[in-house]
Amino acid sequence: MREWYIARAKERILPRVVKQARELGVSFGRARIVDSRYRWGSCTVHDNINLNWRLIKAPIFVIDYVIAHELAHLLEPNHTPRFWNIVNIQVPTVDKARDWLKEHGQILEEEV
Ligand SMILES: [Zn+2]
Repeated sequence: MREWYIARAKERILPRVVKQARELGVSFGRARIVDSRYRWGSCTVHDNINLNWRLIKAPIFVIDYVIAHELAHLLEPNHTPRFWNIVNIQVPTVDKARDWLKEHGQILEEEV
């Protein structure tokens, strides 16, 4: 079951990273679907984007928010007003997405 989710996540999420990066005009190293217990997404010092495969269980507007969040960090490392400005322009449903993540954070700890 887990393998199936990871395959779906790669199929569904990675193309959206490429698309959003193009829209934002940023370039990243590699985008990977990872197995993290505590984080939905992260970006590394080498401009690689890591996204939790469990995102596949989230609605698409949440997936897009997490992608936009990590890509925006390539332009602005800290959560400054400029950072949120970039994310808000890219994804208009930021508040809704953050509420969803808060509410469903326990998905991260669920075993599949
Ligand atoms: Zn952040």
